[in-house]
Amino acid sequence: MEKITCQGCGVSIQTEDPKELGYAPPSSLDREDIICKRCYRLKHYNEVHDVSLTDDDYIKMLDQISHSKGLVVKIIDIFDFNGSFISSLPRFTGNNPIVLVGNKVDLLPKSTNPNKVKVWMRRAAKELGLKVEDVFLVSAKKGIGMEEASEGINRLRNRKDVYVVGCTNVGKSTFINYLIQKTTGEAEAITTSYFPGTTLGFIDIPLDERSSMYDTPGVINRHQMAHYISDEDLKVITPKKEIKSRVFQLNEQQTLFFGGLARMDFEQGERTSFVCYLSNDLMIHRTKTEKADELYKNHLGELLNPPGEETLQQLPPLKAHTFHIKDKTDIVFSGLGWVTVTQGGITIRAHIPEGVRVSIRESLI
Ligand code: GDP
Repeated sequence: MEKITCQGCGVSIQTEDPKELGYAPPSSLDREDIICKRCYRLKHYNEVHDVSLTDDDYIKMLDQISHSKGLVVKIIDIFDFNGSFISSLPRFTGNNPIVLVGNKVDLLPKSTNPNKVKVWMRRAAKELGLKVEDVFLVSAKKGIGMEEASEGINRLRNRKDVYVVGCTNVGKSTFINYLIQKTTGEAEAITTSYFPGTTLGFIDIPLDERSSMYDTPGVINRHQMAHYISDEDLKVITPKKEIKSRVFQLNEQQTLFFGGLARMDFEQGERTSFVCYLSNDLMIHRTKTEKADELYKNHLGELLNPPGEETLQQLPPLKAHTFHIKDKTDIVFSGLGWVTVTQGGITIRAHIPEGVRVSIRESLI
C-alpha cells in the first residue's frame, strides 16, 4: 500500500488501531486531504490526544538532518529562550548552517528595542554552543518580520533544503503555516494549538522543483514549565497579547508569588523596584518573606493559583536558586517570563518547580 501521511502533522496514517498514533477511519481515505484522528480532533474540537514519543525517538528522527545538506532554521520562543532551546542541536545538525528565528515578538512590550533582542539572541546562542548565520525576530501569528525572515532563509539556503526545528510550543507550526499560506494561499495546512507536543513526523513542503522545506517533530524540552502543568494552567501562563509590565517597589525580606508556580524573595539590599513581565492573566501576590512558606503551604491552588487541581497532582516542589545581582538584570523564570531588577547590589532567591530553569541575563528592556 502506498504510504499516506497526515496533512496535519505528517505522521504515517494507519486505519487499524484508533488508539495508536496516525489513526484515520478507513472511510476518510477517499478524501484528498487526509488528516489523522488526533489532528482532526485538534482542528475541530480544539483538544489534543496525549501521544508521546520518547526523547530517543525524537533524536533518531532529527539525526536524519546531520546526514543531509540544507539550512537549519531553529525557532525559539523569545518569551522562553532557555526553555525552548535545544541544547543538543549542534549534534544532530552536522555541519549544516543554522539560522535562529525568535518567535512571538508581538508579546514583548512596545518599548523593546528589537536590535538589542537580536544581539542578545545571538550572544545567548553562542554561549549555549550554537553558531548562527543570522538572527530574525518575528511574530508568526501576526506576520511581523516574516517577510524579512522568509527572504533571509531563501537567500541563505542557497537552493538547498530547509529543516525547521524547534521544541514544542514555540510556534513552529504557525511559522510554517504562514509561509505555506503565502506561497499557496492555503490556510490551516498544519495543525496548531496551545498545547505542547502536537507536531509529529516530518512534513515535506516543496519550495521549488528540487528542494523542500521540512517541518520536523517538536522536541519536548524538560525545562519547559509547560511540561509540568495542565492545559488549563498553560492557557493562563501563556501570554496572548503584548505584556503589560507590572512594577513593585520592594524592601528586603519581601516576596512575590507568581500564582503558586514561582516565587521571588528579595533577600537583601536597598529598597528598589522590580518590573514583572509575565502573562497579564497570571496573578502576582506580594507578602513578607517570613510569611511566604506558610502562605504557600496553606493557599497553594487557592489564592496562589495556578496551579489548579490537575497541575497540583504532578507539580514538582519549588526549588530555590540564589542570585547576587550586580547590575540591572533580568531574572528569567522559564515559561513564565522574567522580572527586571533595576539596580545591583542585591540578593535574590528565585524559586521554581524542580526541573524547570531559572536564570539571569543582562536586562532586555
Ligand atoms: P509548535 O508546537 O511549535 O508547532 O507551536 P504552535 O504553532 O502550535 O504554537 C504554539 C502556541 O503558540 C499556539 O498557541 C500559537 O497560537 C502560539 N503562537 C505561535 N506563534 C505565535 C506568535 O507569533 N505570537 C504569539 N503571541 N503566539 C504565537
